[in-house]
Amino acid sequence: AKNRGRHTYCLFQAGMGDEVRQRRALEKDLNSALSDGQFDLYFQPRMSLASAEIVGYEALIRWNHPDRGLVSPGEFIPVAEASGQIIAIGKYVLAQALDIASSTILDANISINVSPVQFRDKDFVDDVRQAIDRSGVPAGRIELEITENTLIEDDARALSVLTRLKEIGVRIALDDFGVGYSSLSYLSRFPFDCIKIDRSFVSEAKRNYGSLAIIETVVRLGKALDMRIVAEGVEDADELCILAQRGCHEAQGYLIGRPMPTDSLARSIPEVVSA
Ligand code: C2E
Ligand code: CA
Ligand code: CA
Ligand code: CA
Repeated sequence: AKNRGRHTYCLFQAGMGDEVRQRRALEKDLNSALSDGQFDLYFQPRMSLASAEIVGYEALIRWNHPDRGLVSPGEFIPVAEASGQIIAIGKYVLAQALDIASSTILDANISINVSPVQFRDKDFVDDVRQAIDRSGVPAGRIELEITENTLIEDDARALSVLTRLKEIGVRIALDDFGVGYSSLSYLSRFPFDCIKIDRSFVSEAKRNYGSLAIIETVVRLGKALDMRIVAEGVEDADELCILAQRGCHEAQGYLIGRPMPTDSLARSIPEVVSA
């Protein structure tokens, strides 16, 4: 038992070293990724459950690494956040997403993810204002998605940033709702226009009464607070049906459409799925 313990310890150490090396390598490659045009934005549709129409798209970043191929944001965003590179990447995402939203390719609302690190940058609100002015996209068509991690550190400052963003006219969504430390008090303290229910509740709703009850409660609460409720990660018709019956406003997920590059966006008229 003692031997095995030591062996496990060694493996763990080796694993750690690999991880550190991997992060450093990614960080280094991220430096050239922006200037070399290795980032792309994909767009995933959001459907209204009342009208079965596509009402907006979420911009999701993709990194085409020259050797590794497609690197998922789940892998490189944390690295870019730790290094601060996310600030420049976030500016690129804003500019690019609004550029596409200003063209006829994407004639709908646009949602953009904002990292907590980007949100805390002192120039963030000005960057948003500038990107909007340059693109000419009406602020009301733009939604910024933040997670509760953005709010926990300094909530007085977060409230002031959110208030300034609201003055510009953009909408604010609380992403991944229900996971992490989700505090219900956030919902009344901060000016959200939209709550995105995390995918985990949607995928559990069929088998797990608790998840279904949470969805029902969030929908009711959101309506009472005059917020739109969007369910994430909807993968099949049963899930869509449950959400429609519970009065959820919108659904997003592979059933409605996968994230897609702009050239397929231009060609595709997303199939309408009936609830
Ligand atoms: P998120 O904001 O929660 O985005 C939703 C994620 O769920 C996306 O993963 C999307 O492709 C995936 N997804 C959508 N529908 C389904 C479904 O039906 N089933 C399953 N299994 N997955 C689904 P993706 O694109 O890999 O992004 C992962 C995360 O990376 C995002 O989670 C977001 O936190 C972050 N991210 C992506 N793009 C950006 C960006 O431009 N800026 C920042 N700061 N973060 C980003
Ligand atoms: Ca999101
Ligand atoms: Ca999410
Ligand atoms: Ca997420």
